[in-house]
Amino acid sequence: MEKMSRAAVLLAPGKMETQSFPVSSPQKGAAVCRVLLAGICGTDKHSYRGETLQYKGTANEIDLPFPIIQGHENVMIIEEIDPEGSRHLEFDGAVLKPGDRVTLCPDVVCGTCYYCKNFPNYPWCEHLQFSYGNMRSCNDAHRLYGGFSEYIYIEPGTRLYKIPDELPDEMAVFTEVMCVTWTPDKAKEFNSFSLEGFNFGDTIVVQGAGPLGIAHIIKARMMGAGKIIATDISDYKLDLARQFGADIVLNVNRTTEAERIERVMQETRGLGADLAVECVGRPYVVPEGLKMLRKAGMYLEPGNFVDCGETGLNIHEICSKNLRIIGMSNHSHNGYRPCMEMMLREKNRFPWQKLISHRFRLDDTEKAIQTSMTDESMKVVIAP
Ligand SMILES: [Zn+2]
Ligand SMILES: [Zn+2]
Repeated sequence: MEKMSRAAVLLAPGKMETQSFPVSSPQKGAAVCRVLLAGICGTDKHSYRGETLQYKGTANEIDLPFPIIQGHENVMIIEEIDPEGSRHLEFDGAVLKPGDRVTLCPDVVCGTCYYCKNFPNYPWCEHLQFSYGNMRSCNDAHRLYGGFSEYIYIEPGTRLYKIPDELPDEMAVFTEVMCVTWTPDKAKEFNSFSLEGFNFGDTIVVQGAGPLGIAHIIKARMMGAGKIIATDISDYKLDLARQFGADIVLNVNRTTEAERIERVMQETRGLGADLAVECVGRPYVVPEGLKMLRKAGMYLEPGNFVDCGETGLNIHEICSKNLRIIGMSNHSHNGYRPCMEMMLREKNRFPWQKLISHRFRLDDTEKAIQTSMTDESMKVVIAP
Protein backbone atom coordinates (compact mmCIF):
# COMPACT_ATOMS: atom_id res chain seq x y z
CA MET A 1 0.00 0.00 0.00
CA GLU A 2 1.17 3.50 -0.78
CA LYS A 3 2.69 5.28 2.20
CA MET A 4 0.84 8.47 3.17
CA SER A 5 1.88 11.49 5.21
CA ARG A 6 -0.37 13.86 7.07
CA ALA A 7 0.69 17.49 6.93
CA ALA A 8 -0.60 20.85 8.16
CA VAL A 9 -1.31 22.85 5.02
CA LEU A 10 -1.51 26.65 5.03
CA LEU A 11 -4.10 27.15 2.27
CA ALA A 12 -3.99 30.94 2.55
CA PRO A 13 -3.08 33.36 5.35
CA GLY A 14 -5.04 32.42 8.47
CA LYS A 15 -6.43 29.26 6.87
CA MET A 16 -4.92 25.92 7.79
CA GLU A 17 -6.04 22.30 7.57
CA THR A 18 -4.56 18.83 7.89
CA GLN A 19 -4.28 16.95 4.60
CA SER A 20 -2.81 13.61 3.49
CA PHE A 21 -0.22 13.21 0.74
CA PRO A 22 1.44 10.18 -0.82
CA VAL A 23 5.10 9.82 0.20
CA SER A 24 7.31 9.41 -2.89
CA SER A 25 10.25 7.01 -2.87
CA PRO A 26 13.51 8.95 -3.00
CA GLN A 27 14.77 9.50 -6.53
CA LYS A 28 18.46 9.79 -7.48
CA GLY A 29 20.32 11.87 -4.88
CA ALA A 30 17.24 12.30 -2.68
CA ALA A 31 15.93 11.09 0.69
CA VAL A 32 12.72 10.81 2.65
CA CYS A 33 12.78 11.76 6.31
CA ARG A 34 10.33 11.38 9.17
CA VAL A 35 9.93 14.60 11.13
CA LEU A 36 10.58 14.30 14.86
CA LEU A 37 10.28 17.95 15.83
CA ALA A 38 9.71 21.18 13.89
CA GLY A 39 10.03 24.65 15.37
CA ILE A 40 7.75 27.55 14.50
CA CYS A 41 9.86 30.43 13.20
CA GLY A 42 8.96 34.12 13.10
CA THR A 43 8.68 33.72 9.33
CA ASP A 44 5.93 31.11 9.79
CA LYS A 45 4.00 33.58 11.95
CA HIS A 46 4.41 36.34 9.34
CA SER A 47 3.14 34.00 6.60
CA TYR A 48 0.16 32.98 8.71
CA ARG A 49 -0.68 36.66 9.22
CA GLY A 50 -0.50 37.36 5.49
CA GLU A 51 2.93 39.03 5.43
CA THR A 52 4.10 36.89 2.55
CA LEU A 53 6.54 38.93 0.47
CA GLN A 54 10.17 37.79 0.75
CA TYR A 55 13.49 38.70 -0.90
CA LYS A 56 11.99 41.95 -2.18
CA GLY A 57 14.23 43.78 -4.62
CA THR A 58 16.25 40.67 -5.51
CA ALA A 59 16.02 38.12 -8.30
CA ASN A 60 14.34 35.79 -5.78
CA GLU A 61 11.45 38.09 -4.88
CA ILE A 62 8.52 35.85 -4.09
CA ASP A 63 5.01 36.09 -2.76
CA LEU A 64 4.38 32.73 -1.08
CA PRO A 65 2.93 30.10 -3.45
CA PHE A 66 -0.02 28.83 -1.39
CA PRO A 67 -0.90 26.15 -0.46
CA ILE A 68 2.31 25.45 1.48
CA ILE A 69 3.48 23.15 4.25
CA GLN A 70 5.43 25.34 6.66
CA GLY A 71 8.27 24.36 8.98
CA HIS A 72 11.98 24.79 8.27
CA GLU A 73 13.54 24.27 11.72
CA ASN A 74 13.39 20.52 11.47
CA VAL A 75 14.78 17.61 13.43
CA MET A 76 14.30 14.53 11.27
CA ILE A 77 15.25 10.90 11.00
CA ILE A 78 16.20 9.38 7.67
CA GLU A 79 13.62 6.85 6.58
CA GLU A 80 14.83 6.09 3.04
CA ILE A 81 17.82 7.40 1.14
CA ASP A 82 19.16 6.88 -2.36
CA PRO A 83 22.84 5.71 -2.43
CA GLU A 84 23.94 8.92 -4.14
CA GLY A 85 22.00 10.97 -1.59
CA SER A 86 23.66 9.08 1.21
CA ARG A 87 27.08 10.18 -0.10
CA HIS A 88 26.26 13.77 -1.04
CA LEU A 89 23.47 15.20 1.11
CA GLU A 90 25.43 15.64 4.36
CA PHE A 91 27.21 19.00 4.34
CA ASP A 92 30.21 17.96 6.43
CA GLY A 93 30.82 14.78 4.47
CA ALA A 94 29.21 12.09 6.65
CA VAL A 95 27.73 9.11 4.80
CA LEU A 96 24.06 8.99 5.75
CA LYS A 97 21.93 5.92 6.32
CA PRO A 98 18.36 5.23 7.42
CA GLY A 99 17.99 5.88 11.13
CA ASP A 100 20.40 8.85 11.20
CA ARG A 101 19.06 12.02 12.78
CA VAL A 102 19.59 15.14 10.70
CA THR A 103 18.60 18.77 10.43
CA LEU A 104 18.63 20.87 7.27
CA CYS A 105 19.48 24.25 5.82
CA PRO A 106 16.14 25.36 4.35
CA ASP A 107 17.71 27.08 1.34
CA VAL A 108 18.53 25.04 -1.75
CA VAL A 109 20.90 27.03 -3.98
CA CYS A 110 22.01 26.75 -7.62
CA GLY A 111 25.75 26.58 -6.90
CA THR A 112 26.71 28.34 -10.13
CA CYS A 113 25.57 31.99 -9.92
CA TYR A 114 27.79 34.94 -8.98
CA TYR A 115 26.86 34.78 -5.28
CA CYS A 116 27.12 30.99 -4.99
CA LYS A 117 30.63 31.15 -6.45
CA ASN A 118 31.89 34.27 -4.70
CA PHE A 119 30.12 34.26 -1.31
CA PRO A 120 29.97 30.57 -0.50
CA ASN A 121 29.17 31.05 3.19
CA TYR A 122 25.72 32.53 2.69
CA PRO A 123 22.83 31.20 0.65
CA TRP A 124 22.56 34.45 -1.32
CA CYS A 125 21.91 32.58 -4.54
CA GLU A 126 20.43 34.57 -7.43
CA HIS A 127 18.46 31.52 -8.52
CA LEU A 128 17.33 30.10 -5.18
CA GLN A 129 15.79 26.76 -6.15
CA PHE A 130 13.42 26.87 -3.22
CA SER A 131 13.31 27.00 0.54
CA TYR A 132 11.80 24.25 2.71
CA GLY A 133 8.70 25.17 4.66
CA ASN A 134 8.31 28.37 2.78
CA MET A 135 8.87 28.76 -0.94
CA ARG A 136 7.45 25.66 -2.59
CA SER A 137 3.78 24.79 -2.89
CA CYS A 138 2.55 21.38 -1.79
CA ASN A 139 1.00 21.09 -5.26
CA ASP A 140 4.55 20.80 -6.69
CA ALA A 141 6.65 17.72 -7.48
CA HIS A 142 7.03 15.54 -4.36
CA ARG A 143 4.77 17.84 -2.36
CA LEU A 144 6.18 17.30 1.13
CA TYR A 145 8.58 20.23 1.54
CA GLY A 146 7.83 21.43 5.06
CA GLY A 147 8.37 20.23 8.60
CA PHE A 148 4.78 20.52 9.84
CA SER A 149 4.26 17.07 8.40
CA GLU A 150 4.92 13.45 9.29
CA TYR A 151 7.33 13.05 6.36
CA ILE A 152 9.44 15.39 4.29
CA TYR A 153 10.97 14.82 0.84
CA ILE A 154 14.62 15.87 0.64
CA GLU A 155 15.67 16.97 -2.85
CA PRO A 156 19.22 16.54 -4.23
CA GLY A 157 21.28 19.64 -3.48
CA THR A 158 19.79 20.05 0.01
CA ARG A 159 22.29 20.47 2.82
CA LEU A 160 21.65 18.04 5.65
CA TYR A 161 23.59 18.02 8.91
CA LYS A 162 23.97 14.91 11.03
CA ILE A 163 22.92 15.57 14.62
CA PRO A 164 25.38 14.37 17.29
CA ASP A 165 23.94 11.37 19.15
CA GLU A 166 24.17 13.10 22.52
CA LEU A 167 22.23 16.20 21.41
CA PRO A 168 18.53 15.84 22.29
CA ASP A 169 15.87 16.71 19.68
CA GLU A 170 14.71 19.55 21.92
CA MET A 171 18.08 21.28 21.55
CA ALA A 172 18.79 20.29 17.96
CA VAL A 173 15.57 22.02 16.91
CA PHE A 174 17.22 25.30 17.90
CA THR A 175 20.16 24.89 15.47
CA GLU A 176 18.80 26.96 12.58
CA VAL A 177 17.92 29.85 14.89
CA MET A 178 21.43 29.76 16.35
CA CYS A 179 22.80 29.92 12.79
CA VAL A 180 20.93 33.19 12.24
CA THR A 181 23.23 34.75 14.84
CA TRP A 182 26.02 35.17 12.29
CA THR A 183 25.30 38.92 12.41
CA PRO A 184 27.62 39.49 15.41
CA ASP A 185 30.25 37.40 13.59
CA LYS A 186 29.91 39.81 10.68
CA ALA A 187 30.26 42.70 13.14
CA LYS A 188 33.43 41.09 14.46
CA GLU A 189 34.98 41.35 11.01
CA PHE A 190 34.79 45.14 11.34
CA ASN A 191 36.86 45.46 14.49
CA SER A 192 39.97 45.81 12.38
CA PHE A 193 38.66 49.33 11.72
CA SER A 194 39.22 51.47 14.79
CA LEU A 195 36.17 51.83 17.02
CA GLU A 196 33.92 49.77 14.73
CA GLY A 197 32.24 46.40 14.91
CA PHE A 198 32.13 43.98 17.81
CA ASN A 199 34.98 44.14 20.31
CA PHE A 200 35.51 42.27 23.57
CA GLY A 201 33.55 43.92 26.38
CA ASP A 202 31.22 45.84 24.05
CA THR A 203 27.70 46.79 25.08
CA ILE A 204 25.04 45.29 22.86
CA VAL A 205 21.33 46.08 22.78
CA VAL A 206 19.08 43.21 21.69
CA GLN A 207 15.67 44.48 20.58
CA GLY A 208 13.18 41.66 21.01
CA ALA A 209 13.64 38.70 23.37
CA GLY A 210 11.89 35.98 21.39
CA PRO A 211 13.87 32.94 20.21
CA LEU A 212 16.03 34.98 17.80
CA GLY A 213 16.75 37.57 20.49
CA ILE A 214 17.66 34.87 23.02
CA ALA A 215 19.91 33.22 20.41
CA HIS A 216 21.71 36.55 19.96
CA ILE A 217 22.08 36.96 23.72
CA ILE A 218 23.67 33.50 23.93
CA LYS A 219 25.97 34.26 21.01
CA ALA A 220 26.93 37.74 22.23
CA ARG A 221 27.73 36.37 25.68
CA MET A 222 29.96 33.66 24.22
CA MET A 223 31.67 36.13 21.90
CA GLY A 224 32.76 38.26 24.84
CA ALA A 225 30.10 40.96 25.04
CA GLY A 226 30.17 43.29 28.03
CA LYS A 227 26.73 44.54 29.02
CA ILE A 228 23.80 42.98 27.21
CA ILE A 229 20.61 45.04 27.28
CA ALA A 230 17.38 43.39 26.10
CA THR A 231 14.05 45.05 25.27
CA ASP A 232 10.66 43.41 24.78
CA ILE A 233 6.99 43.85 25.65
CA SER A 234 6.79 40.56 27.58
CA ASP A 235 8.04 40.12 31.15
CA TYR A 236 8.10 36.37 30.57
CA LYS A 237 10.51 36.77 27.65
CA LEU A 238 12.61 39.35 29.47
CA ASP A 239 12.93 37.02 32.44
CA LEU A 240 14.26 34.33 30.08
CA ALA A 241 16.56 36.90 28.47
CA ARG A 242 18.08 37.44 31.91
CA GLN A 243 18.47 33.71 32.48
CA PHE A 244 20.33 33.41 29.18
CA GLY A 245 22.74 36.23 29.94
CA ALA A 246 21.13 39.67 29.57
CA ASP A 247 22.28 42.07 32.29
CA ILE A 248 19.59 44.71 31.89
CA VAL A 249 16.04 44.20 30.62
CA LEU A 250 13.61 46.96 29.65
CA ASN A 251 9.90 46.38 29.18
CA VAL A 252 8.77 48.49 26.24
CA ASN A 253 5.20 48.67 27.60
CA ARG A 254 6.33 50.26 30.84
CA THR A 255 9.00 52.66 29.63
CA THR A 256 9.07 55.42 27.05
CA GLU A 257 11.52 55.45 24.17
CA ALA A 258 13.28 58.42 25.79
CA GLU A 259 13.64 56.51 29.07
CA ARG A 260 15.09 53.47 27.33
CA ILE A 261 17.60 55.53 25.38
CA GLU A 262 18.53 57.39 28.58
CA ARG A 263 19.10 54.06 30.35
CA VAL A 264 21.41 52.87 27.58
CA MET A 265 23.35 56.14 27.89
CA GLN A 266 23.64 55.69 31.68
CA GLU A 267 24.97 52.17 31.22
CA THR A 268 27.60 53.31 28.72
CA ARG A 269 29.06 56.39 30.41
CA GLY A 270 26.93 58.63 28.21
CA LEU A 271 28.33 57.23 24.96
CA GLY A 272 25.65 54.85 23.69
CA ALA A 273 25.76 51.14 22.88
CA ASP A 274 28.47 49.76 20.60
CA LEU A 275 26.00 47.50 18.82
CA ALA A 276 22.28 46.96 18.54
CA VAL A 277 20.54 44.03 16.89
CA GLU A 278 16.95 44.01 15.66
CA CYS A 279 15.17 40.75 16.58
CA VAL A 280 11.58 42.01 16.65
CA GLY A 281 10.80 41.64 12.95
CA ARG A 282 9.10 45.04 12.79
CA PRO A 283 10.54 48.07 10.97
CA TYR A 284 9.28 50.61 13.52
CA VAL A 285 11.80 49.56 16.19
CA VAL A 286 14.80 50.49 14.02
CA PRO A 287 14.89 54.28 14.68
CA GLU A 288 15.03 53.67 18.44
CA GLY A 289 17.84 51.14 18.04
CA LEU A 290 19.86 53.64 16.01
CA LYS A 291 19.36 56.31 18.67
CA MET A 292 20.77 53.94 21.30
CA LEU A 293 24.08 53.60 19.44
CA ARG A 294 27.25 55.53 20.08
CA LYS A 295 29.10 57.30 17.27
CA ALA A 296 30.43 54.75 14.76
CA GLY A 297 28.15 52.17 16.37
CA MET A 298 26.80 49.26 14.39
CA TYR A 299 23.20 48.25 13.80
CA LEU A 300 22.51 44.64 12.85
CA GLU A 301 19.34 43.77 10.97
CA PRO A 302 18.44 40.05 10.74
CA GLY A 303 14.84 40.41 12.01
CA ASN A 304 12.88 41.86 9.09
CA PHE A 305 13.33 38.79 6.88
CA VAL A 306 9.78 39.26 5.62
CA ASP A 307 8.72 42.54 4.03
CA CYS A 308 6.78 44.34 6.77
CA GLY A 309 6.91 47.73 5.12
CA GLU A 310 8.78 50.94 5.78
CA THR A 311 9.71 53.16 8.68
CA GLY A 312 10.65 56.81 8.98
CA LEU A 313 14.34 57.46 9.54
CA ASN A 314 16.14 60.73 9.91
CA ILE A 315 19.06 59.93 7.62
CA HIS A 316 21.00 62.84 9.08
CA GLU A 317 21.36 60.84 12.33
CA ILE A 318 23.12 58.06 10.44
CA CYS A 319 25.44 60.62 8.91
CA SER A 320 26.00 62.67 12.06
CA LYS A 321 26.96 59.59 14.11
CA ASN A 322 28.89 57.72 11.37
CA LEU A 323 26.68 54.67 11.91
CA ARG A 324 27.05 51.43 10.02
CA ILE A 325 24.01 49.27 9.31
CA ILE A 326 24.48 45.59 8.46
CA GLY A 327 21.61 43.65 6.92
CA MET A 328 21.54 39.89 6.97
CA SER A 329 19.06 37.75 5.12
CA ASN A 330 19.29 34.04 5.92
CA HIS A 331 22.30 32.70 7.73
CA SER A 332 25.66 31.09 7.30
CA HIS A 333 24.98 27.54 6.19
CA ASN A 334 28.34 26.29 7.47
CA GLY A 335 27.24 27.20 10.99
CA TYR A 336 25.08 24.15 11.68
CA ARG A 337 27.71 21.68 12.90
CA PRO A 338 29.54 24.33 14.98
CA CYS A 339 26.22 25.40 16.56
CA MET A 340 25.25 21.84 17.43
CA GLU A 341 28.70 21.16 18.89
CA MET A 342 28.48 24.43 20.83
CA MET A 343 25.10 23.48 22.31
CA LEU A 344 26.53 20.15 23.42
CA ARG A 345 29.58 21.80 24.95
CA GLU A 346 27.51 24.50 26.66
CA LYS A 347 24.74 22.13 27.72
CA ASN A 348 25.03 23.08 31.38
CA ARG A 349 25.82 26.75 30.90
CA PHE A 350 22.45 27.87 29.54
CA PRO A 351 18.95 26.65 30.55
CA TRP A 352 18.27 25.28 27.04
CA GLN A 353 15.26 23.27 28.22
CA LYS A 354 13.40 26.53 28.87
CA LEU A 355 13.55 27.55 25.21
CA ILE A 356 10.66 25.30 24.24
CA SER A 357 7.57 26.74 25.89
CA HIS A 358 4.91 24.69 24.09
CA ARG A 359 4.69 21.42 22.20
CA PHE A 360 1.77 20.53 19.91
CA ARG A 361 0.71 17.58 17.78
CA LEU A 362 0.36 17.98 14.03
CA ASP A 363 -3.44 18.32 14.13
CA ASP A 364 -3.07 21.34 16.41
CA THR A 365 -0.56 23.22 14.22
CA GLU A 366 -2.87 26.20 13.77
CA LYS A 367 -3.32 26.48 17.53
CA ALA A 368 0.46 26.17 17.86
CA ILE A 369 1.05 29.10 15.50
CA GLN A 370 -1.50 31.22 17.33
CA THR A 371 0.15 30.31 20.64
CA SER A 372 3.56 31.25 19.26
CA MET A 373 2.23 34.77 18.67
CA THR A 374 1.40 35.33 22.35
CA ASP A 375 3.59 37.11 24.89
CA GLU A 376 3.78 34.01 27.07
CA SER A 377 5.49 31.78 24.51
CA MET A 378 9.08 31.16 23.50
CA LYS A 379 9.90 28.46 20.90
CA VAL A 380 6.76 26.52 20.03
CA VAL A 381 7.34 23.13 18.40
CA ILE A 382 5.29 20.61 16.48
CA ALA A 383 5.90 16.93 17.23
CA PRO A 384 4.05 15.26 14.33
ZN1 LIG B 1 13.37 30.74 10.27
ZN1 LIG C 1 23.25 30.45 -6.96
